[in-house]
Amino acid sequence: MLDIVIIGAGPAGLATALRLHQQGFRPRIFEAVPEIKPLGVGVDIKPYAVKELTELGLYDAFCAISVEAKESIFYTGYGQEIFGEHCGRHMGYEHDQRFVHRGHLQMMLYRAVEERMGKETITTGSRCVQFEQDDNGVTLTFDTTHNPSAPKQVRADVVIGVDGIRSVIRSQLMPESQRTHFSGLTLYRGVTVMPPFKTGGSILHIGDPIRQGTIIVYPIQDNVDGKGSQLVNWVVEQDEKPQTEEDWNQETGVRDIEHIFDDCKLDFLDVSAMIRNARECYLFPLIDHDPLPQWSFGRVTLLGDAAHAMYPRGGNSVCQAFVDARVIAEKLASITDPVAALAAYETERREQVNWLVKASRGEGPEVVRRIVEERSGGKPFDNIEAIFPHEEALAIFSEYHAKAGMRIPGGKESKDPAKYKSVFTADVK
Ligand SMILES: Cc1cc2nc3c(=O)[nH]c(=O)nc-3n(C[C@H](O)[C@H](O)[C@H](O)COP(=O)(O)OP(=O)(O)OC[C@H]3O[C@@H](n4cnc5c(N)ncnc54)[C@H](O)[C@@H]3O)c2cc1C
Repeated sequence: MLDIVIIGAGPAGLATALRLHQQGFRPRIFEAVPEIKPLGVGVDIKPYAVKELTELGLYDAFCAISVEAKESIFYTGYGQEIFGEHCGRHMGYEHDQRFVHRGHLQMMLYRAVEERMGKETITTGSRCVQFEQDDNGVTLTFDTTHNPSAPKQVRADVVIGVDGIRSVIRSQLMPESQRTHFSGLTLYRGVTVMPPFKTGGSILHIGDPIRQGTIIVYPIQDNVDGKGSQLVNWVVEQDEKPQTEEDWNQETGVRDIEHIFDDCKLDFLDVSAMIRNARECYLFPLIDHDPLPQWSFGRVTLLGDAAHAMYPRGGNSVCQAFVDARVIAEKLASITDPVAALAAYETERREQVNWLVKASRGEGPEVVRRIVEERSGGKPFDNIEAIFPHEEALAIFSEYHAKAGMRIPGGKESKDPAKYKSVFTADVK
């Protein structure tokens, strides 16, 4: 049996281990941090990724830690509704769409790896610093300062680099790939404990990208305090802030952003109060890495953010990693030569994901807020239909979902998409 080593126990590395285990492999994972803790804030798990978790036998466990997405609604900075659509099964897709705390998702996968494959599968406190490959295998070297009993060198038949946006494996394979692409936007990623709003599974997209900046709000955990409150995730996007570190753990305060949405009058949510009452808030520059020209180099390949770090606002990073995990396990199980298997994995995945990396640089369906801002001159409107007809919005959403691989189920999509010029061609830079 192939001896497979995975570098990184993030959501993608853990899902890869579970998929390989389903195919009969016994991979080992080496993780840099001494202890895996539930870090991060919210992630949006699309129906195609819920399908992957379901196939891993984790649907019930996942439902227990996540919130079902029911509707997605766009508002101006004044709180006027622009457009709304249903999510997941409510839209007619075969699977749910769900919101979850990134750390809770990681811990669920971590527990599944330990239960199914044994605690010894994951070695923490082992930071991979370099590798060398020859015709027969790969030798990995680790910094084990935080776990002196861990091996300093490990030999493997195949290495999968799943070590995130600052991947050491990627930097050794392609040193020039470490350069980041900064959008000029800074994200404030926060969470607030508060009573459920609307359906208890609503995602709100508020504001405009021109005048005030935008905020996305969605619940990620039910009944966090035993009194029915939800943990609500929000992400404020602001222009013209200096670029911060490419690091998910930069804590910050909310003083700079707490008044931005004071004009937003929603009868079910006080946006400013939600920001002021944040339990925690982190900064993150809206960055990605240019699409890579190659993922697999002989017996070494890349997966997850190491292969395709993309803007998190499209909500596809972790979802795409779950698809990678299935495909790589299928290829390694069905193709005897591991070099050919890794090449086949890349062929099936890279081009499609690279399209998404580039498409995520555009505004995606969030573009509807810009359109309304421009047509209304930044003023409250009397009748949305007069400046932005429902059918035009539906054409935009139908096209975007189809391009992202989630065609809206028949009957609910735009009947006449060709009537309106595509707004997405400029997305791909
Ligand atoms: C602490 C943290 C918080 C995050 N918070 C959010 C969030 O709030 N919202 C969001 O959309 N996305 C967040 N992300 C990113 C998100 O997890 C990824 O986009 C997505 O889940 C794909 O996961 P991944 O496993 O490829 O990468 P990651 O989740 O980044 O996991 C990579 C793993 O590799 C480990 N690692 C790195 N270098 C080495 C090395 N040299 N040797 C061994 N192990 C190594 C890291 O410690 C980490 O556990 C966060 C990532 C991290 C690490």
